[in-house]
Amino acid sequence: MSSSSRESSFRDHLGIVSAEGKRTWLYPKAPKGRFHTARLIVSAALLMILFGTPFLRLHGHPFMLFDITERKFIIFGMIFGPHDFFLLALAMISTIVFIFLFTVVFGRLFCGWVCPQTVFMEMVFRKLDYLIEGGPGEQRALNNAPWTATKIRKKGLKHSLYFILSFLVANTLLAWIIGTDKLYAIVTDPPSQHLGGLTAVVLFSGIFHWIFGWFREQACILVCPYGRLQSVMLDRNSIVIAYDNLRGEPRGKLRRGQERKEGDCIDCGQCVDVCPTGIDIRNGTQLECVNCTACIDACDHVMDAVKKPRGLIRYDSIEGIEKKHRALATPRSIGYSVVLVILICLLTYFISNRSDIDVTILRTPGMYFQEQPDDYISNLYDVKAVNKTFSPLPLSFRLRSINGTIRVLGDSLVLRSQEANAAKLFVLLKRDQIKSMNTPLDVEVYSGDKLVGVVRSSFLGPVKKKEG
Ligand code: SF4
Ligand code: SF4
Repeated sequence: MSSSSRESSFRDHLGIVSAEGKRTWLYPKAPKGRFHTARLIVSAALLMILFGTPFLRLHGHPFMLFDITERKFIIFGMIFGPHDFFLLALAMISTIVFIFLFTVVFGRLFCGWVCPQTVFMEMVFRKLDYLIEGGPGEQRALNNAPWTATKIRKKGLKHSLYFILSFLVANTLLAWIIGTDKLYAIVTDPPSQHLGGLTAVVLFSGIFHWIFGWFREQACILVCPYGRLQSVMLDRNSIVIAYDNLRGEPRGKLRRGQERKEGDCIDCGQCVDVCPTGIDIRNGTQLECVNCTACIDACDHVMDAVKKPRGLIRYDSIEGIEKKHRALATPRSIGYSVVLVILICLLTYFISNRSDIDVTILRTPGMYFQEQPDDYISNLYDVKAVNKTFSPLPLSFRLRSINGTIRVLGDSLVLRSQEANAAKLFVLLKRDQIKSMNTPLDVEVYSGDKLVGVVRSSFLGPVKKKEG
C-alpha cells in the first residue's frame, strides 16, 4: 500500500471495526521494556492508593470520602459540605483548567500512566489473559476453538477471576463514597437490611466485568470524553507518543547483504502488534492512541536489534520532530497557567480563611421592639449557624462596644456537627443607650472561649421625642 493511500485509508475506518462493520477483537502482544516496567511500578503504587485510601483515618475520621448521597466530602482530612459548594466548584474549575494545561503541554500522558481504565485494563485484566490463555496467537486459537473441557476450564477460571476483581473494585468504589464503616455494615449485616447497597455492589461488579471483559478499548475510543477533547487541546508543541517520520521514512524491510537506502523503520510491524487499541502510530497522532508507551518499547527493541539509535517512536511533539525544538511556553500554555495560578491563589485564600462555624444573626421578620421591665428594650433575632467540623460545638454570644444582655431562647446552644442549626435570641439594651431608631450592633460569637466571628446586625428602639 502506498504511503498516501495508507494515509487516507486509516482515517476512513476504526482499527477495531471490520469492513463488514463488526467488532474486531484485538490480540495485542504483551509489551516489554523500560517504559512498561516504569508503568508497572506506577500502576502498583496507584492501585495501592486506590485500595488503601478508604482505610486511612485522621483523628478517627476518613482521610478521603466522597459521599455524594449525603453531600459530604472529606478531602485530605478536611470536611466539606453543601455549605462549601463554592469551594468545591472552585476546586472543580481549577482541576479542569489544570487538565487543559496538562494536556496542552503533555498530551495524553494521564491516559497512559494514571487513568484507571488503562491501569486496570492493561496492568491487571490483560495480564490475566496472558497468564491463563497465553500469547495473542493462543488467545485467538482458543476463542476460535470449539467448547472443549480445556476451553471451558480456561474461560471459567478467567471470568471467575474477572468477577472477583470487579467485585473488589466495586466495593472499593463504594468505600470511597460511603466509607469503610458503612461498607462493613453492608457486608456483615443481613442482606435484607442493605438491599440498596448490595444491589449497587452487584450492579457495578457486573458493569466492571463487562467493561474489562468485553467492552475494553472501546471505552477509550468511543466513550471517553477526555479522548474526544484531544483534537481541540493538542497543538504542534504538545508532547505525544510520536513516530519520527523524518528519520523512519521511507520505510522498508531489512534485506540481508543489501545496502540500505530507506529510513530507519524496517516495517516490522512490532509497534502495531503491541498496540492495545489496534492502530499504527506511524500514521500520526490519532484519537485512539492512549499513550500506553507499548509501541515505544517495541520499537526500541527493534532499533537495538538493528543497531540504530532508540527513539524512532518516542515522546515528542510535531515541532520537536520537524524542527528538533519545541516551545514549552506557548501562548496557550501561558494563558492556562495564568488562569490556573489565579484560581489556585483564590482557592488557597478561601480554604485558609475558612471558619469552622458560619453564623448569621438577623432580626426576626415582622417583629418591632419590645418594652421590658427596668427600662430595658429588647429585639428578637433569628440565628442560623452551620457547624463544619466533625464534633458538636457550644455557641455563646457577647455584645461588642455596647452594654447590654443577650439571652438565647431555650437551653444553651450546642451546634450539631455538619448541620445547619437554628436558634432564637433576645438582645436587651437600656433605654438610655438607644440614641437612634436603628442602632448598629456587633455580636461576638464564641465557641467555648474561642472567638469564632463577629456578626453585624442592628437594633430597633424607640427614640425620645424632643421636648418643647
Ligand atoms: S516497530 Fe519501529 S521499525 Fe518496526 S514498524 Fe514500528 S516504527 Fe518501524
Ligand atoms: S499507538 Fe502506541 S502508545 Fe498509542 S495506544 Fe498504540 S501502542 Fe499505545
